[in-house]
Amino acid sequence: MGVLVAFHAHPDDESISSGGTLARAVKEGHTVVLVVATGGEHGQRPPGVDDAEALAELRRRETQESCAVLGIQHLEWLGYHDSGMTGWPQNSDKRAFMNVSVEEAAEQLAAILKKYGATVLTTYDWHGNYGHPDHISVHKVGYRAAEIAAVSEVYEATMNRDSFRRLQEMARGSGEVAEGEEFDVDGPADDGNPMGMPENELTHRIDVSSYLEQKRESLFKHASQITDSSFVSKMPPEVFAIAFGTEWFLKRGVPTEPKQDWIFS
Ligand SMILES: [Zn+2]
Repeated sequence: MGVLVAFHAHPDDESISSGGTLARAVKEGHTVVLVVATGGEHGQRPPGVDDAEALAELRRRETQESCAVLGIQHLEWLGYHDSGMTGWPQNSDKRAFMNVSVEEAAEQLAAILKKYGATVLTTYDWHGNYGHPDHISVHKVGYRAAEIAAVSEVYEATMNRDSFRRLQEMARGSGEVAEGEEFDVDGPADDGNPMGMPENELTHRIDVSSYLEQKRESLFKHASQITDSSFVSKMPPEVFAIAFGTEWFLKRGVPTEPKQDWIFS
């Protein structure tokens, strides 16, 4: 059996990007360790949560609950603060993950990889899916830590831009999205690049349709960030299944066709 370390930037990233893969790995008997780089101090503050530290404390509890839903056995925090999108004021905080040297954070992550005897590491694609500075740091720190700890199986969790475009075309066809209101899949995200990666560059297509309930439930454990009005909570189950029932990864050096269907051999 393997030991999967899933490295994420913020509390809740584990759920939306790869919750199905993590639940399936646990179900198949692997050990799963979630490592979160930041406390998510700058997320939405619900009423009664007065400062960044109180929010981080709440989000630590929510993440524990999300792990319980997915069956994740171990949760580790690197202890950095989250950065905002490019240009946000908190980005000058020296504890912000984007300001921490790759080497320092990678040493910390590598120690965790060694502690658990990691055989597989997941990180993010080169631009962190949509250019968030903390997500880009996860990419860099992940690869460097894998090098230090000699973990050769590294997967980049990403979004499939083409499948999002197809979903959007379906929504447009059904009249659910008003013209001009829709998100432009091919438009520039925070770093000037379109979101995710094109399908023809991806290597792994993971069917997580059997784990959708767990994925959705773990997502809703992050209640401070997911209000009733957010787009995911309004999504009918069949749309959620199409949008989140497949998880995509890229592994360097692996042919892009045919797509592989699982991350453990
Ligand atoms: Zn994030």
